Amino acid sequence: MEVVRLKIAEEHVEMLRKDSLAALTGGTGRANEETLAALERSLATIVACAEPCGGYRYVKVTEVSRSEVTTVLGPVESTRLSLIARRSSGDKQLVFTLSTAGEAVDDAIAGDIPLLDKFVLDTVASELAEIVAGLVEERWLEEVGAAGREASARMSPGYCDWLIRGQTVVFRALDAAALGVRLTDSFLMIPSKSVSSAAVVADEVPLKVQCLACGRKDCQFRRAATDDAWSAELAG
Ligand code: SF4
Repeated sequence: MEVVRLKIAEEHVEMLRKDSLAALTGGTGRANEETLAALERSLATIVACAEPCGGYRYVKVTEVSRSEVTTVLGPVESTRLSLIARRSSGDKQLVFTLSTAGEAVDDAIAGDIPLLDKFVLDTVASELAEIVAGLVEERWLEEVGAAGREASARMSPGYCDWLIRGQTVVFRALDAAALGVRLTDSFLMIPSKSVSSAAVVADEVPLKVQCLACGRKDCQFRRAATDDAWSAELAG
């Protein structure tokens, strides 16, 4: 496993401020003075206590069926990731990743603070977890690009059609303890502000985002509009 330890730089704080404000205001960026003050307090708390880190590992794909992608460490049961892998060519791997904002962030949220601060801090921490996952992704994407290979977007257990029990194969692939992350019996991660995922890596990955092949209209996690040609492939 490759480990990535991160420091929160000024550019990350700025990104965190912008993303958190968008999340708190439904994208309008308009918040009252009280909320803006709570946001600044939350950012200061996060900078003081977060220990962002992550890890990733490439694992060989041994078989791809319509319903799952099998690796030497076990399957990812997802028709969507399976379609991405089936349409990819060359040596196929999955890259498993795990990243976290750190346990002290959970402690800060659980602390004795006003309700508004708790709510805002929870939002800021969730946004930080996504930023950390993105920074870890940047690291392995650089390697993939340097090797002249391609990758799909990452998918997380519990999202799209990959059931939460899929955490099992991610935690088998990675040394979660080295990152300070553990899994409960119900597959939830502790610290809670952690992100796990898998993505396809191959010589060519023509379908990079599974949503292109999906006609579901009511999905809150959609990342791209449906493309009719790809959608027909998933249905066929
Ligand atoms: S729209 Fe939703 S269900 Fe469909 S592929 Fe995207 S994330 Fe999955």
